[in-house]
Amino acid sequence: MRLLSLNFLSRTWLLPLLFSPLVFWGVANATPEASLSKERNAPIAIAIHGGAGTITKANLTPAQDAAYRAKLNEALQAGYALLDQGKDGQYAVIAAIQILEESPLFNAGRGSVYTFDEEHELDASIMDGATLNAGAAAGVKTVKSPISLANEVMSNSVHVMLSGSGAETFAKQQGLAMVENSYFNTERRLKSLHKAKKSLVKTQASYSEKYAFEQLDVSYKYGTVGAVALDKFGNLTAGTSTGGMTAKRYGRIGDAPIIGAGTWADNASCAVSATGHGEYFIRYHVAADICSRVKYQGVSIAEAADYVINTELKNAGGSGGVIVIDRQGNITMPFNSAGMYRASKRDSENTYVAIFKDQ
Ligand code: ASP
Repeated sequence: MRLLSLNFLSRTWLLPLLFSPLVFWGVANATPEASLSKERNAPIAIAIHGGAGTITKANLTPAQDAAYRAKLNEALQAGYALLDQGKDGQYAVIAAIQILEESPLFNAGRGSVYTFDEEHELDASIMDGATLNAGAAAGVKTVKSPISLANEVMSNSVHVMLSGSGAETFAKQQGLAMVENSYFNTERRLKSLHKAKKSLVKTQASYSEKYAFEQLDVSYKYGTVGAVALDKFGNLTAGTSTGGMTAKRYGRIGDAPIIGAGTWADNASCAVSATGHGEYFIRYHVAADICSRVKYQGVSIAEAADYVINTELKNAGGSGGVIVIDRQGNITMPFNSAGMYRASKRDSENTYVAIFKDQ
């Protein structure tokens, strides 16, 4: 490359061009960090999650434990491999999330929970930290990969968030894979719905519907998947995909497709994907709040995320966790629930895969 450009400069007829205002503009507006990053082979890193909740050793058989870890590892390695090949973070985030969406183990895509009316309504979003472009899809029923729809919204529409049947029409126009809603059916999630409904009916006999929903065990609520990445160009990306909350009604939308609540990425601070009780994550605009603390208070991602998850949300009664990454490749993954499916990898460091507080 260098030889080529020297040769280019040695052509004297090109010299006047060098002093043209256009060239000065170009030099002034070049992205020095991006090219620097490329030259010094900037660090790459990725973190993923598969949901937070009442995940304890007692609740998981050794076979289930192994299956979750294997799938997390597969998704992580797929995303990491793309970063390693020099692909944009966007591709790594989508590849990792799609593997989790296709697995019935997680509450996203294939393994999505059921609504009160025994259907599936899926939400997803993605954000690019270099441009602050973002895309989201909410309440879709027939899009096989909601994260790919979110990406189409970001890349090929003038909007940030599309919902329901309109989002599905757009998905078809973009040529995305469409499926019957029953594609997302799983025995395990149906059982959870029946159990949740029983508990709702029992509680509602003496209390309001609102109270009954609030009393639902948290294990009915979580399982969202997400990924955050730092690519070789020094850019951050975040994405999240979910089936939402078991027994949700009335077209309820959670935090996952809401930019700033469940997903946020800004090269000036950090990238975040969240999982947990969506209503709290929306009201406390968790993902953006963590990055704002980093940006304006100058604190580390570990300090900012720990405060928001373990002090602010916890005190408010909001359960869940986040995965966070910054431009140096630092990663933090705090949660205030019993467990959170999670994994990370930085440069050539060993892969980290964990479920419980003590791994
Ligand atoms: N945050 C998601 C929601 O409220 C649920 C989850 O994280 O599992 O829809």
